[in-house]
Amino acid sequence: MAIYEALQATKNRITAACVSAGRPPDAVQLLTVSKTFPAAAVREAFAAGACAFGENYVQEGLAKIDELGDLRSQLEWHLIGPLQSNKTRPVAEQFDWVHSVDRLKVAQRLSEQRPAALPPLNICLQVNISAETSKSGLMPDEVAPLAAQVALLPGLRLRGLMAVPEPGPGALAQHQAMAALYTSLQSRGLALDTLSLGMSADLEDAIAAGSTMVRVGSAIFGARGAKA
Ligand SMILES: *Cc1c(COP(=O)(O)O)cnc(C)c1O
Repeated sequence: MAIYEALQATKNRITAACVSAGRPPDAVQLLTVSKTFPAAAVREAFAAGACAFGENYVQEGLAKIDELGDLRSQLEWHLIGPLQSNKTRPVAEQFDWVHSVDRLKVAQRLSEQRPAALPPLNICLQVNISAETSKSGLMPDEVAPLAAQVALLPGLRLRGLMAVPEPGPGALAQHQAMAALYTSLQSRGLALDTLSLGMSADLEDAIAAGSTMVRVGSAIFGARGAKA
């Protein structure tokens, strides 16, 4: 399927999922995940109407941001993969969002390194909602204390939470647990507006639970190679 048709089909899935969940069709944003796909594919998706792109690997993302420099003011770049504290500087300088913050040290460095001329870097805290030891992210009970600290960092704007629920019969319950965690932080007074939840295979479950941003790669660009 060409990127244009696949993008339209994905938007239609999002709209349909919003309607069946009784939510307004514009309640959910689409983040187009371009990891492993070349800058030319991003350019094609942009021409088809996508403007927010997600990358997993810092170096690959930086290379694409550079290659697509002519479109920089029209694109939003989101880092959705793991971030080590020694790689924060170029991310603070080049990206618009980081969805994968799970340590205060990384948040502090991003805040310090965010150039003053740019708006604060948008942040989601990543939650290990399936509690798998192999996965990155905070345990659910660690989220509120870190959120309170990150919310105070001047170079950052805490927007919400991100997770990658484990596929399978327990997936919907994990999406719902994320939504509950998100609303509990809001009720503690944090001004959050982003629940980054749902991918190609599970965006309907995520939207039913309350996702406000789905991160979709393969449904738009096709299957990836072995790397991801
Ligand atoms: C790769 C990836 C996605 C997109 O996954 P698809 O199944 O291709 O839609 C979303 N979020 C994260 C964190 C990813 O690593």
